Amino acid sequence: MVKIRILILLYLLGTSIAFADKKEGREFVDLPDVDNGYNIHVMYVLPIDGIDKEYDLNSKIGMLVYQMDKWFNNKTKGRLFEEGQKLKFDRKEDNRLDITFLRLDIEDIDISKRGINAVNVLQPAIARFGFNDPKKVYFIVYGGTNKDVCASSQLPGHVPLGVTANTAAVYIPGKRSGSCIENNGGFKPEFNNTTRSSLHEVLHILGAVPKCAPDHLIFEDAGTINDGIGGHLEIPGDIMYSVQSNVTYDKAKHLDFKSSNYYNHDNEGCLDIAKSIYVTPTVENPQLTTYGVE
Ligand SMILES: [Zn+2]
Repeated sequence: MVKIRILILLYLLGTSIAFADKKEGREFVDLPDVDNGYNIHVMYVLPIDGIDKEYDLNSKIGMLVYQMDKWFNNKTKGRLFEEGQKLKFDRKEDNRLDITFLRLDIEDIDISKRGINAVNVLQPAIARFGFNDPKKVYFIVYGGTNKDVCASSQLPGHVPLGVTANTAAVYIPGKRSGSCIENNGGFKPEFNNTTRSSLHEVLHILGAVPKCAPDHLIFEDAGTINDGIGGHLEIPGDIMYSVQSNVTYDKAKHLDFKSSNYYNHDNEGCLDIAKSIYVTPTVENPQLTTYGVE
């Protein structure tokens, strides 16, 4: 009897939250695509007990993505395309981002406690709600906490083919002590550490840094949270630079500036972000995120 009462209470709580989440201008579905469907779909995802800060509505996410894309475009100018390239985010007819709001059925603690692996909880969680389009990759702005990191990503080039690795996430406010926002700048109209972390993770989900890159780095087994993780470079200043502890990053100045590891290189058979299906302008026979993976 008590159990039934608790269940009824939880159900009522759930429906009242669902009602409160309905707001003018908010989308709960991925809108019909205005492109060929290969795009980076952005989502504002909350845990069941998360506070709705309306990042999808108050242009915070829009500004974050704008800053990420601006940096990427600047660093790609005069390379494969004279005007540079842009990340192919999922947009609406009017060029605004198609952002989906989703409240999960999971409590924040069960996501937060997974630390760097929280993204591996989020990906199957959004997939259960239908956000698992094989053409898309997903960039989640998670409105909850993370006990260890500001952002993390799956690595499509580092798992066997057939294993889903299509999601990157930034955790806002992130770390429980010393949050993403306080330490990394939060949502501001600048390329701060929150922007840099977000772009770093989105580049991971597009396949960078591939294993076949000459300077590719795999962290050693040294008892840190990211033992054995690949996808980085040892070159300080590069957006894909990381150190083993995952605590300190270098300020990002470059996007593979020697064009030898993951952008506009001539290492045939190896993934190249300049030739990715998720950037525009797009080359004639673009690559998928798993390009070159056996
Ligand atoms: Zn990384």
